[in-house]
Amino acid sequence: MSDELDHRTISQDMAVFATDPDVGAGLPLWLPAGAAIRHELEQLARDLARRDGCHGVYTPVLAKRELFEQSGHWAKFSDDMFPPMSLGGSELVLRPANCPHHAKVYAADRHSYRELPIRFNELAPMFRAERSGVLSGLSRVRQITLDDTHVFCRPDQVADEAAMALRSALEAQRVLGLPVDYVRLSCRDDSGAFLGDPAEWEWAEAALRSVAESVGVAEAGMPMLEVAGEAAFYGPKLDLQVRDGRGHEETIATVQLDFVQPERFDLSYDDADASRQRVVMIHRGTVGSMERVVGSLLERYQGRLPLCLAPVQVSVLPVGPGQDGEVRSLVDELLAAGLRARLEADGTLGARIRASRQRRDCLVAVIGPAEAAAAAVQVTDPASAFRGMVDRSALPGFLREAHLDRRPVLSWPM
Ligand SMILES: [Zn+2]
Repeated sequence: MSDELDHRTISQDMAVFATDPDVGAGLPLWLPAGAAIRHELEQLARDLARRDGCHGVYTPVLAKRELFEQSGHWAKFSDDMFPPMSLGGSELVLRPANCPHHAKVYAADRHSYRELPIRFNELAPMFRAERSGVLSGLSRVRQITLDDTHVFCRPDQVADEAAMALRSALEAQRVLGLPVDYVRLSCRDDSGAFLGDPAEWEWAEAALRSVAESVGVAEAGMPMLEVAGEAAFYGPKLDLQVRDGRGHEETIATVQLDFVQPERFDLSYDDADASRQRVVMIHRGTVGSMERVVGSLLERYQGRLPLCLAPVQVSVLPVGPGQDGEVRSLVDELLAAGLRARLEADGTLGARIRASRQRRDCLVAVIGPAEAAAAAVQVTDPASAFRGMVDRSALPGFLREAHLDRRPVLSWPM
């Protein structure tokens, strides 16, 4: 593992993010290359959320302190929260989690049993007052943007909803090529750190255990471990765990059952017999946090990201000024096809190829006099070890298809 680069080093080669002492530690600035990767992750998150029937919502990053007292976050997490800001007689805090806001979105309307499940998705920022000593690159930051979904459902819908959430989380990691080391069923222990009724916990833990079985976690070659004491304070969860090159382990995606917050926020629905019933809340993180996933992707691929994620998908290089017009029009066609293409004209060809390699551009396309005469481009694809002449007019179309399908180029048209 010693020759594997840390994501902070790779980020410098690729210009993914920067930090600035005037902005503050743990508050990375996303540079254009980092923003390009993040846009793709956000798109994947929205595509999966929409397919699963989620509705997008937007909620503020601040709320009154009382909201988090009601949810239980203030009692459990106030040490990790930024200090309150006084304003007009009330205290506002930066949120440590998005769940209470989504609970309030549910509570904004009255719901019947026939409407459920209702699912809200948001790429939502939340905040941790981490001490400056533990902050590191994109993996430990003070603002975390989570692909966060909250499902409000009836008890009889819990198994199906949790299974769908787990399937989508596994699919997101598969699309990104991030291997999941194991699935952790995180249960409560007797430490007193967990809220709610023990009988409900037992029911919820058993429900998640059978969800992992029904989704086929073990058949997919992922071990499942049950760990006491790793649950959220409001309920048990299934966590997709990954280990990085330094042996450090983290949760990349999660499915959590919650009976506590529906109780605390009095979240209910009208049942068939007109009685008011308590909903169950499921917290699901599918793609994960943008910061952590980008850090993991950079390390996993050592910066050589798959086509759909690469900040520069095609670097187009003329051999000499004679091909400038040719190259310009190819770049315009690639951009029009929705691809991230970059024109590199200045400096020697060798230096431009080296710079492109250092930047981890996905593909390099060179046009010299011979290629121009043949209406072709010389393409180098390090991922598939392909190097050869490609029909210039075909290039934008099939790269666009691979990009939209989120897959590598499977065959190159000669
Ligand atoms: Zn939540």
